[in-house]
Amino acid sequence: MKDSLSAERGTVKNELKVFLKNAGAFDVGISSPYNPGYQNAEAGYKPLEVWPDCKSIVVFAVAMSPESNNTYTGPLSPHENDVPLGPVPRQLQSQKYAMNRMIRQIAAPIALAALQFFEHYNIKTSLKPVQCKVSGSLAGIGVYGKSGLLINPVLGNRMTLGLVMIDSELEPDPPLENFYPCENCNLCIELCPAEAYDQEKVYPDSWSRKACMQKRREIAETGSYCHNCFAVCPAGTIPDNELMITRKMIPITPDGIV
Ligand code: SF4
Ligand code: SF4
Repeated sequence: MKDSLSAERGTVKNELKVFLKNAGAFDVGISSPYNPGYQNAEAGYKPLEVWPDCKSIVVFAVAMSPESNNTYTGPLSPHENDVPLGPVPRQLQSQKYAMNRMIRQIAAPIALAALQFFEHYNIKTSLKPVQCKVSGSLAGIGVYGKSGLLINPVLGNRMTLGLVMIDSELEPDPPLENFYPCENCNLCIELCPAEAYDQEKVYPDSWSRKACMQKRREIAETGSYCHNCFAVCPAGTIPDNELMITRKMIPITPDGIV
């Protein structure tokens, strides 16, 4: 019985990965809410804290061109200040520009596809915010670079992450091994205008959010945007101009799940 149950779950997991990749995800991984690595997540963004029924976290990466990363620097829309904006912690947004709005839009269709998939299997889901980067590292999507951004062997940091919690156990994926993208590089640290990194420490202690955000706000006042740590990173194997081709964006319909 146990064997057939695990086999069934293995099938669901494989189907899920194919389904989400057809919906536009580049990579999909599973993490367990019981993984001790979640001790490193920020308080209030740990799976079992936000949803005690959580049994697995489905994490996905969507390829994005450098131009689509946080490039919106205009004002928040009139009611945006009052609306919960999904998985991005409020404190990561400056008062005057919606730095994360575009990346949320890129991940949203994949999250909706995941909801549709699990509804088909009568598996409960939650989109409550959980720390994406911690989940992505635990689920084998990427490793932390010196910048603190997650780096996938193929996409580098040119991806946005999304996740869905479910109340069913799927076999967790292992973290990536033997992948050291920062071994001979220091570019993100050298080109940070805020000097927000402390090379003596390890992320997240090595990065000062306060210094970063203060500098970004100053730069936003001039109508520009800083994400040097993202833009200069040479990791990844797909050329920038081919990044969007990796997104297949096949329309999802209920008939798409067979
Ligand atoms: S966004 Fe800019 S200021 Fe912030 S850490 Fe990256 S390079 Fe430094
Ligand atoms: S810019 Fe270099 S050091 Fe920084 S995260 Fe990318 S590979 Fe690592």
